[in-house]
Amino acid sequence: MAEHYPFVNTPLPYGYDALEPYIDEKTMHLHHDKHLQAYVDNLNAALKDRRALQEMSLEQLICIAGRLPENIGVPVSRNTGGVYNHRFYFDGMAPASDTGPGEALSAAIAVCFGGLDSFKSKFSAAAMSVFGSGYAWLAADKRGHLCIITTANQDTPLTCCLCPVMNIDVWEHAYYLKHYNQRAAYIEDWFRVVSWKTADDRYASCLSCAKK
Ligand code: MN
Repeated sequence: MAEHYPFVNTPLPYGYDALEPYIDEKTMHLHHDKHLQAYVDNLNAALKDRRALQEMSLEQLICIAGRLPENIGVPVSRNTGGVYNHRFYFDGMAPASDTGPGEALSAAIAVCFGGLDSFKSKFSAAAMSVFGSGYAWLAADKRGHLCIITTANQDTPLTCCLCPVMNIDVWEHAYYLKHYNQRAAYIEDWFRVVSWKTADDRYASCLSCAKK
């Protein structure tokens, strides 16, 4: 059964201090327990009297939000995006390790970006280019080809029919306590705690969906 209203703030898959020294414990507490919690609470508040929407999954709500009247569509879009994007971000990290992408993702990165180092520099440039608040994403299209995109605020790639593989939150709350205004240093540290295993699994699932 897919999760639906009332949504809950699922715990992090690791301890709040697990990403130290790259992402600090205090930032993780505030980011998960305050920022993400607020999106969960505001989504539930928006859906409170909307029986027809209460049976829908997060992904279904994201896809339908743009077709709802503005007074409900806007809060549903912002808050479903806030929940989806943050979960995707938190689940996409793990305590630092020296591993890289597995065989399939590695090959796709080589074809699309010319290798892992080149991918990292293109992804970092995209994350740096976000003006204001938003995210940078690695995503796969329907043929499994990879692309790097950015989204503003809490927009998601799902509404562009892309299958996300990785994302980095570049809202200032994601890094300001530790890295101040140095977004480039945060991006570099974030690469140290990317869960390549999760990225591999997501890419495999993108490919299996693409074949259907
Ligand atoms: Mn955030």
